[in-house]
Amino acid sequence: MKRRAIYPGSFDPITNGHIDIIQRSLRLFDEIVIVVAMNLRKRSSKNAWFSLQERVDLVEEVFKGEKRVKVDVCDGLIMDYARKHKVQAVLRGLRAASDFESEFMMAAINKELNDDVETVFMMTGKNLFFVSSTVLKEVAAFGGSIKPYVPKAVWQAVKTKIRTEEWK
Ligand code: ADP
Repeated sequence: MKRRAIYPGSFDPITNGHIDIIQRSLRLFDEIVIVVAMNLRKRSSKNAWFSLQERVDLVEEVFKGEKRVKVDVCDGLIMDYARKHKVQAVLRGLRAASDFESEFMMAAINKELNDDVETVFMMTGKNLFFVSSTVLKEVAAFGGSIKPYVPKAVWQAVKTKIRTEEWK
């Protein structure tokens, strides 16, 4: 049986932090499905820079040569998605202690919602613990370079967003 995991998140946009988690997880799983999820908090607080479709397109671009990585979207509960697609594992990344608190709560409620699914945590990659989509957007918005922390296609897309001021 294929070992499959889903990796849900906002991916607004995908960063080297996410990519590192995925690449290392490919040693444990046969297939990883990146699930770009609607995030109610981020959507309502106008923090989303990229539309769902734009985020999916960027993820597809980044993993275009990798057959074991798939991309999908979810606008409901991740645990319902897991049940529907018969997935046994959910991947999440941990950066600082602050991530632990919310991830711990999320894993606990997800276990309540679907006992058949295990959450698997991967520790952040080397020198990537400070990389989050949110922080990178902030740096880029104020003119800083985020080039070392995102793939080329993402850097281009971020620059275009800033130039057209679409994110404001
Ligand atoms: P962000 O917190 O960057 O806005 P997402 O909602 O897209 O991210 O995150 C999806 C998952 O990826 C979460 O479990 C998050 O903790 C993890 N993640 C994001 N960036 C990193 C990183 N640099 N190192 C480890 N895990 C990360």
